[in-house]
Amino acid sequence: AKRAGEGHVRLFDAPMNLRFVERARLRQALPEALARGEFSLVYQPQQTLGRGHTLGCEALLRWQHPDLGLTAPEVFIPVAEDCGLIVPIGAWVLEQACRQATRWPDGQSVAVNVSAVQLHSGLLVQQVQHALEASGLAPGRLELELTESALIDGEEKVRPTLERLRALGVRLAIDDFGTGYSSLSYLQRLPIDRLKIDRSFVMALTTPEAADRSLAAAVVRIARTLEMDTVAEGVESLDLLPQLRALGCDMVQGYAIARPMPADALLDWLRQARG
Ligand code: C2E
Ligand code: CA
Ligand code: CA
Ligand code: CA
Repeated sequence: AKRAGEGHVRLFDAPMNLRFVERARLRQALPEALARGEFSLVYQPQQTLGRGHTLGCEALLRWQHPDLGLTAPEVFIPVAEDCGLIVPIGAWVLEQACRQATRWPDGQSVAVNVSAVQLHSGLLVQQVQHALEASGLAPGRLELELTESALIDGEEKVRPTLERLRALGVRLAIDDFGTGYSSLSYLQRLPIDRLKIDRSFVMALTTPEAADRSLAAAVVRIARTLEMDTVAEGVESLDLLPQLRALGCDMVQGYAIARPMPADALLDWLRQARG
């Protein structure tokens, strides 16, 4: 740690250093991870607010390295984006998620997170086509989750890509809606089916401040105006369901319904939820 004036030790230097070392290690280990089979997917159900039907699941990536252990996607995905590896990793995620979804009992759909780097790679349409063909999944059962920043940076180039994906029959959602950009005008111009209400707005529903609570409602209204549907993310308490229902939100996802789980556990969960 560096010494600051009066002999104080700046404590924040240590964690910053650690993070640097950690990232360097991840950058070294990441190129091998795909070939070594260190990635897996877990799935989190999304239910309707009306009858509690599970209509789909979101696929979430996990990386387990023999020495580094389990690394959070929020940590390794930025590293994979920096070195471009997110493109082949993203292709693997698409293929794996589509294959799994073909096993689900009631034609549930699968939502796959797509990185901005992957969207702008020029390879996404091809990757999606390949995943659909290899798995035999009906295109209408695949949903791609995109972030606002990915859509706005180079909107003119993104639009043809989205239109081609839509033409394949794939659905498109905006993840973490409302946390990225303040501009709404792009929403009208892009072919989007669904907005995901960020967890921060969902959590704000539990606060006494009317202004905080109004954000989730605003997202639902925007979605309705543009004929999109909504998923509330990060729902940690069943007490939130009546409020979300009153707002006109369509679907919920979060620990209160189910934690993300491996493919086999999910199959059991789906069968039970059904019967
Ligand atoms: P996200 O897309 O917003 O995913 C939701 C995150 O919230 C997941 O974290 C999920 O496990 C967590 N979560 C779900 N329900 C609750 C809840 O009730 N409370 C709380 N506190 N958290 C909840 P996870 O799996 O760690 O993923 C973090 C982020 O990493 C994702 O955020 C997404 O941006 C990214 N990510 C994950 N998988 C992929 C992937 O395959 N490709 C890309 N490009 N990004 C991915
Ligand atoms: Ca997501
Ligand atoms: Ca999200
Ligand atoms: Ca997020």
